[in-house]
This record gives sequence, C-alpha cells and structure tokens, in this order.
Amino acid sequence: MKIRLGEIPDEGRNYTYDRSTGEMNAELEDLIGTHPYAVDMFIKPIGNAYELRGSLKTTLSEVCSKCGYDFELPVDRKFNEIIFEEENEHRKSQGVHGNQSVNFSDEGTSMVPVRGNVFDAGNYTHEAIALAEPFYPTCGPNGSCLHADEVAEVVERLEREANAAVNEVSEKTNPFAALKDLELSRKN
Ligand SMILES: [Zn+2]
Repeated sequence: MKIRLGEIPDEGRNYTYDRSTGEMNAELEDLIGTHPYAVDMFIKPIGNAYELRGSLKTTLSEVCSKCGYDFELPVDRKFNEIIFEEENEHRKSQGVHGNQSVNFSDEGTSMVPVRGNVFDAGNYTHEAIALAEPFYPTCGPNGSCLHADEVAEVVERLEREANAAVNEVSEKTNPFAALKDLELSRKN
C-alpha cells in the first residue's frame, strides 16, 4: 500500500485500512493471519517533510513462553513520525547502516526515511506489528503467566520423579547396598 506524498494536500489527508477494505491483507498475513486490523493514518506536509500520526490495532496469535498455551495478544499502538525524503548524500554517509532507523515507541517522534516521495504504508504497518511482538510472550499481563500454578505443579512433579529415579539408580549401584544385604543374610 503505497502513498504518493506529493499528492497530499496542505491540510493533510486521512488514510484508513482494515480487513474489509483489504489493502493490507496480503502484506500482513504472515504476522496476523486472518485477524482483524484497523490502521489509521493522518499525513500532513510540514516544510520539506511530512508529519504522520496514527494508530494501529490488531491481534497476534502467540504461544506463552512460560506455559506453552496459545493466546491472543492484542496490539494497540499509536505512532507519531516524521517522514522525510532520504537524499543520496545522506545514504552515502549512513553506509550499510542506512536502513530504517525507526523507533516505534509510543512516546516521542521518530524519523521514517522514504525515497521517490513514496511512503509504503503497508511495509510501515508490517514493521510496526513485528516490533510489537515480544521476544518472550506471556499469556498474562506484564510478563506474567496465567497458568503459573499449573506450571509450578508440573515442574514439582517432574523434579520428584527425577529425584526418585536418581535415588533408585544410586541404590542399585551403591556398593554398600550389597554389604547391607550380606549383613542381613548373616543375621538370619
Ligand atoms: Zn502462560
């Protein structure tokens, strides 16, 4: 979904995308599958650059890193960016690191470089969703797990079983175990 920035009037223009209008369905499929999404963008020229404000709502299917259960992670973020034309000089000085230096945090403005005065809204949204995906997703809020008790129980049981197995083995291989048997048979 590409936006020609030169066609945006001075007062700015609003862009909305969702599953029913379908513009980003294919581009976002690898991240959100068939989940609904709502992308709102308002772009307005400011000098030689463009201001981008908007919001993004969707859902990611995740697996909890603590309990292994599937869960749905809501994504709801706002963005506030400056889109600017990346000049050749700038690219050269940036070298191989001249990729996107985009910061998708909710606070503060970040810079989004474009080329040919075309903003790729689909690619931007794709990256914003990818960055919203946590490294260690958990099914509860703030890194907590809703199945923590269940997990603790399983861990405890496994530890008990492992310990029991170790004791059994050490008893069999313990040389004194044989002496014990000997002593018992002597007494008899
Ligand atoms: Zn969990």
